[in-house]
Amino acid sequence: MKWKCPKCGREFSRIDQQHYCGKPETIDEYIESQDEPVQEKLREVRSIIRSALPEAEERMSWSMPTYWRGRNLIHFAASKKHLGIYPGGEATTVFAEELKDYDVSKGTIRLPYNKELPEDLIRRIAVWCCEQYSK
Ligand SMILES: [Zn+2]
Repeated sequence: MKWKCPKCGREFSRIDQQHYCGKPETIDEYIESQDEPVQEKLREVRSIIRSALPEAEERMSWSMPTYWRGRNLIHFAASKKHLGIYPGGEATTVFAEELKDYDVSKGTIRLPYNKELPEDLIRRIAVWCCEQYSK
């Protein structure tokens, strides 16, 4: 049996499950609003991008965790089956060869939850975004 939160409409297996209820306004709230196993992946990708872009500001933009420096540099977000990274269309073109094993469309990289995150590649893409976009 499932319990549906009357406020946000999310479903949980436990009645009165504690969860972040509402529109996330910070990356922490965004991560807390996701399911448990997904939260772990989100924390991982956040720490990868955070350490790649120490000067960028973390904020929510387009309802997604975002790194900002003068403008949006890169976003990430949780989907049902994958973690999405949104570095812009130019980045997915420049890194196309290295991304060939992943499900990529212009501006979107979909990383399946059951695979290890390509940490080095994510870091390099984030740095590239910062160099290109924050001029
Ligand atoms: Zn709720």
